[in-house]
Amino acid sequence: MKKLKTDFLIIGGGISGSSLAYLLAKLGFDVTIAEKKSKIGYPHHCSGILGLEAISELVHFDEDWVLSEINWARFISPRGISLEIRKPLAKVVDRESMDRDTWEMALSEGAKGLLSSPFKGFLSRDEARVGRSSIHFEALIGADGTLSKVSELIGFEKLPFELGIQRLLRGRPGNGYIVKIIRGSKFTWLQPWREGRKAGALGDPKDNLLLWTYSISDERSRGYEGGLLPAKTRRRFHKGKVALIGDAAGQIKPISRGGVLLASRAARILAESVSRREDIERAFRRYESKWWRINGREIILGRSIRIYLDLLSPSKIDKIFSLLKEDEDLLEREFEVDRQTALLLALPAVKILKLATEDIAAGASAIAEMIKYIVR
Ligand SMILES: Cc1cc2nc3c(=O)[nH]c(=O)nc-3n(C[C@H](O)[C@H](O)[C@H](O)COP(=O)(O)OP(=O)(O)OC[C@H]3O[C@@H](n4cnc5c(N)ncnc54)[C@H](O)[C@@H]3O)c2cc1C
Repeated sequence: MKKLKTDFLIIGGGISGSSLAYLLAKLGFDVTIAEKKSKIGYPHHCSGILGLEAISELVHFDEDWVLSEINWARFISPRGISLEIRKPLAKVVDRESMDRDTWEMALSEGAKGLLSSPFKGFLSRDEARVGRSSIHFEALIGADGTLSKVSELIGFEKLPFELGIQRLLRGRPGNGYIVKIIRGSKFTWLQPWREGRKAGALGDPKDNLLLWTYSISDERSRGYEGGLLPAKTRRRFHKGKVALIGDAAGQIKPISRGGVLLASRAARILAESVSRREDIERAFRRYESKWWRINGREIILGRSIRIYLDLLSPSKIDKIFSLLKEDEDLLEREFEVDRQTALLLALPAVKILKLATEDIAAGASAIAEMIKYIVR
């Protein structure tokens, strides 16, 4: 077995692993990044919808990745009540190019990239088996996605997950984003994509997601893709010399389930925390508490909204849409792709109370979830 040595061993060459590898290599650390696949960014599965804040927090952004702009959005309730927002909201980027270029940038900063190199387990507290090598590390980062093997081997619980499926369609891309609520917080969407559009659906793996995608568009498909998303954010991101980042840590926006913003932000916070070159466990504690300080309100409130929606019947969701329609101007002003709870916080208190008491039992469950998350 080949023996290697590194300061930071990063498992996973997705956007979170490569962004972190780039930042750490730039700080002068010896970084090794191991990816199990032979090609970065492929096969990709993401919709590539990035809000303007997410774009500004990427470690690097290239206009060449942009496939389309999203200048309006329409949200449709289960029985057809629609809310419309007209303003620049997001860009659709080619995730394949974004992930590949970010990996290349990490390597050009001096990180060692190992392709076709799956993490297989720990040989000791500071040594891991990767492919056919044993790698000694000062710290190991699990950036290995929703089904993270790293998190499992440090004894963390498996994250519940959802499935996203997308049909690639022919036709004119346009510049709008349409979301149709199917049930609770589960939805299907239509978006611009390269030389056409994508119809996507997101839900429980047991749901008939492919069928859902036909409820938003009956255009002919020219291909399919899919991927898993964590259904929950972990409360803890580290144990001993190991930390988690990105989907492995469940760093996903609870309502839309976009992960790129929170993963990029995590990479920056983690890199800044270790830049002080103190004890690694202390640095990881700082990373976790700072990430929660910045994102906690959005995660906890967003998760509670999701629990609430999941308990509502379709007709109650229609009612919520009718209530929000009374404030469509406010919706247009306050809605942000990257801060999805901002709208709720901008609503008058009476309206929030009206929304929350639409279903008392669901409201109580959402509040219980909020408390559980805060005190854990
Ligand atoms: C259908 C769908 C649509 C989405 N749309 C959006 C969107 O529009 N906007 C948005 O912001 N987010 C979106 N997301 C979420 C986003 O794609 C993820 O949050 C983001 O890609 C997470 O990046 P990551 O690097 O943490 O994980 P990943 O991209 O999953 O990368 C993990 C990497 O680790 C590798 N790996 C796994 N196990 C091992 C191992 N044992 N050894 C070595 N390597 C390993 C994998 O091969 C992979 O390359 C979507 C997700 C899905 C499924």
